[in-house]
Amino acid sequence: MELTVLGCSGSYGAPVGGACSGYLVRAGTSAIWMDCGNGSFTNLQQHINPAELTAVVITHAHPDHCVDLYGLHVCAKYGLDMSELPVYAPEGVEKQLETLVGSWTDTFDWHAVADGDSVQIDDVAARFSRTDHPPPTLAVELAHDGKRLVYTSDTGPGWSPEVFGSGADLLLSEATYQHDDIRAPIHLSARQAGEYARAAQARRLMLTHLWPTVDPVASVEEGNEAFGRAIVLAAPHLVTHI
Ligand SMILES: [Zn+2]
Ligand SMILES: [Zn+2]
Repeated sequence: MELTVLGCSGSYGAPVGGACSGYLVRAGTSAIWMDCGNGSFTNLQQHINPAELTAVVITHAHPDHCVDLYGLHVCAKYGLDMSELPVYAPEGVEKQLETLVGSWTDTFDWHAVADGDSVQIDDVAARFSRTDHPPPTLAVELAHDGKRLVYTSDTGPGWSPEVFGSGADLLLSEATYQHDDIRAPIHLSARQAGEYARAAQARRLMLTHLWPTVDPVASVEEGNEAFGRAIVLAAPHLVTHI
């Protein structure tokens, strides 16, 4: 599996290169756009022709995780003549986003997913788990060829990546805050992300969704200490192999 970060700014776009949550996951013949935050579609097009996407996964209805799907809709309808692209999202996301585009027509084939669901998306086995975050929000495990990527999406401390079992090859964890300044308990601090990753025996930890004004170096130090090993910080266009 290959993970490309398309955007990782937490909750709103950062001033420089600050697209919000979006990831491209390639595995076998699959090319999955996971979360469609503002700015991520722009970056996606630097890595793949949108016509080559095989599916979209959206974790929740917060705009920083879903609004750029309108761009793919317009591109698909008037530019690519693409239709029925599978989109997996919690109930309600389809309706909420449709207010942006008027009518979806036939661009996407929507599939509602919920806590505990397992879905085969082409070459990738996906599992979903409801996190501790106000709108129905799903963490995602993507597995291919014996490797596992776990993405926390947004979550407070009432959920743990351990629900997917221990030993994920890469845990992509939100780390919105630092531990001495948690402004809302619907997100994690870098310390909490590191602690959960250590408890879940993740092989590698990548922090993402940092609040745009936090010092990323301090977040990395906090995460390193809690995880007990060196972590990686997400950045737009970073490509990593799993
Ligand atoms: Zn978010
Ligand atoms: Zn959110």
